[in-house]
Amino acid sequence: RSKEAGRDTYRFFTAEMNARAIEKLDQENALRRALDLNEFVLYYQPKVELSMGRITGVEALIRWRRPGHGLIAPLEFISVLEQTGLISEVGAWVIESACKQISKWRRSGIGEIPVSVNVSGRQFSQGTLNQDIIRATQENDVHPELLEFELQTERALRENSIDSDLLELEMTESSLMTHAKKTAGILQRLKLLGIRISIDDFGTGYSSLAYVRRLPIDVLKIDRSFIAEITTNSADAAITTAIIEMAHSLNVKVVAEGVETVEQLDFLRERGCDEIQGYYFARPLPAHEIAKLLLSGNRFLKPAQSLIV
Ligand code: C2E
Ligand code: MG
Ligand code: MG
Ligand code: MG
Repeated sequence: RSKEAGRDTYRFFTAEMNARAIEKLDQENALRRALDLNEFVLYYQPKVELSMGRITGVEALIRWRRPGHGLIAPLEFISVLEQTGLISEVGAWVIESACKQISKWRRSGIGEIPVSVNVSGRQFSQGTLNQDIIRATQENDVHPELLEFELQTERALRENSIDSDLLELEMTESSLMTHAKKTAGILQRLKLLGIRISIDDFGTGYSSLAYVRRLPIDVLKIDRSFIAEITTNSADAAITTAIIEMAHSLNVKVVAEGVETVEQLDFLRERGCDEIQGYYFARPLPAHEIAKLLLSGNRFLKPAQSLIV
């Protein structure tokens, strides 16, 4: 009997593993076509300055409209893009789309809205790009991945005649660390273009503020895992306070991610945090919703009474 049960279990696991493997392969194949089929879309989440309650810019966040699956969040596919090397191509699309959007908002009279773009460490690493894909989608030469990222950024900016001050790149702390050596040089060159550099999810990796001093960093984004319990967990409160103070002493701006409550907002404002981003003010929204928000006069915030000091 027990032998049979064992066999059943075995069979059950194989079936399930097969199903999962097939599903993963399906997803990968679908991702390979997603760019050509125009299935990616950027949502934008506003960042709000705490002193004046003003929207200072938006962060571009990718979504995948996968037919039959709805709108898929980046955490479900970014790592697959990284593993398959597709990230460079999709990353280039993100930068280009963000620049096109900046240009669109400007042409429609909304104004010059700064957009931050998330960049995978992989986009900075030297692995070879899928040259076929590059050739199919880009009219220009194939470059080494490191250089290419830079050139595509430059080109995306140039083609849309965007002032590079409007583009801000976000990288996580851990990817900065992993690729620290290569990254430093690239960041310096991006800096020369006028692009601002921010460290995303700060506090979750291994880097210290020493890195912030050595690299041309403009902004630290405190990870939302610290913000979540900022008003109830004294360690998180202390860490957040310390990050804000040290960042300011290094002349670096601080953005708090994932602000959902007025209590969190009040705490952060008392500690001198520069900007917040979070559901408390707005979720990531499609471009036309952002346009409505900006046009409706909410460029200067009202919703949170406590925002008006
Ligand atoms: P991130 O760059 O740290 O972006 C912030 C994430 O927090 C977003 O999730 C946003 O929707 C979410 N968020 C914002 N406010 C709140 C809040 O108040 N509460 C909660 N619970 N969540 C909030 P999203 O859009 O799912 O993106 C997840 C991550 O995927 C991003 O984290 C970023 O690391 C990555 N990602 C997104 N777009 C891109 C992209 O174009 N390229 C790359 N390489 N990575 C991207
Ligand atoms: Mg980000
Ligand atoms: Mg983040
Ligand atoms: Mg995050």
